[in-house]
Amino acid sequence: MIASHLVVPADIKVQWSDIAGLDLVIQELRESVVLPVQHKDLFKSSKLWQAPKGVLLHGPPGCGKTLIAKATAKEAGMRFINLDVAILTDKWYGESQKLASAVFSLAAKIQPCIIFIDEIDSFLRARNSTDHEATAMMKTQFMMLWDGLSTDSKSSVIVMGATNRPQDLDKAIVRRMPAQFHIGLPTELQRKEILKLILESEEISEDVDLNRLAKLTNGYSGSDLREMCRNASVHRMRQFMRVNDNILQSSNSNANINKKEISMTMDD
Ligand code: ATP
Repeated sequence: MIASHLVVPADIKVQWSDIAGLDLVIQELRESVVLPVQHKDLFKSSKLWQAPKGVLLHGPPGCGKTLIAKATAKEAGMRFINLDVAILTDKWYGESQKLASAVFSLAAKIQPCIIFIDEIDSFLRARNSTDHEATAMMKTQFMMLWDGLSTDSKSSVIVMGATNRPQDLDKAIVRRMPAQFHIGLPTELQRKEILKLILESEEISEDVDLNRLAKLTNGYSGSDLREMCRNASVHRMRQFMRVNDNILQSSNSNANINKKEISMTMDD
């Protein structure tokens, strides 16, 4: 079950160059995570230069949080465990606590490793009295396992969480994630960079003006921009097919006319 969510760096398809408009976040992640993991020997004597054991990426959907997490693992040469919170929060499953320790011990064995938790708020939200007992125990145990990483200075395991609702997270969890990055909706300039990247290897007509497109797409996420470009290419393809069909139809009807002419000539 866990192994199906485990990816080795060579199989991660995303790298920094696939992400546009997030240079500052990338730079900070490079300094705080990638360098300390890649140059462990260089940083081992310094307590100040340890990679954080928790990183939080927050912001609206479709703005690149998952991309950033995967690319960080790729660039740092870390394995990537995509932890499915649905399995951990399923109170009928009953085995979730065992599963949580299995994830952490697997991560320790295969480190350097990122344990990525998308929608971390759905699992580690603020504790309250209505929590199912199994859920409350699960959260406490998860935090204990996490703390185990912090006490082991040699560990290169990082828990990276992504959420659209950081305000719902348990304060104790937020404290465990000292590196936090807001990945917001792209600005006009960032939209232009994302559009440029998406259309990089496409054939686009000369009258496509990226500055204008970036201006007109206020409020679009990176994912929306990709979808918009995909729709435009589907539309273009349909137009092309229609033109081709028309040519085909008219050449068929020309062929029919010719056949008629031939048979008329023969009848004569
Ligand atoms: P969610 O909160 O819904 O999980 P997310 O913030 O994790 O969303 P991603 O899954 O990383 O968003 O991004 C979705 C898709 O949008 C990406 O696969 C990519 O195609 C495109 N995309 C988003 N942001 C960027 C960006 N900055 N540069 C390039 N592509 C982007």
